Amino acid sequence: MKDAVRLRANHLCEYCHASEQWQYVQFTVDHIVPLTKGGIDKLENLALACFHCNRQKSNKISGTDPQSGKNTPLFNPRCDVWKDHFTWSSDSLQMIGLTAIGRATINALNCNRERLLLIKASDRSVNRHPPINDPIQVL
Ligand SMILES: [Zn+2]
Repeated sequence: MKDAVRLRANHLCEYCHASEQWQYVQFTVDHIVPLTKGGIDKLENLALACFHCNRQKSNKISGTDPQSGKNTPLFNPRCDVWKDHFTWSSDSLQMIGLTAIGRATINALNCNRERLLLIKASDRSVNRHPPINDPIQVL
């Protein structure tokens, strides 16, 4: 089942779109709705997640949208489309939330922390970032 999750995700973390291809350790399989909250152990509730996103997400299914201050569901890779909720900044280093779901997810998973920006800058310099089909903000 893990292989099916990896292939479906095209080896990208389904939250931050880091590529597993360039990592030293394999990404983890996240239960989108945690088992402790009634989630099931089936493909429709699984997502490929990098270690960082999986750890930050933990058993959360919602977070605060920093723009409205409201509690909002987190991005669900099985029902939501990444491009509808996120884009890359014009320098392609920062994730930008286009919706309440996008902003709450970036906030909860701390997707723009300093260490990740440094990794992305390094990956960008050798054309490993951003993923080829991802949108980039036009200023
Ligand atoms: Zn990630």
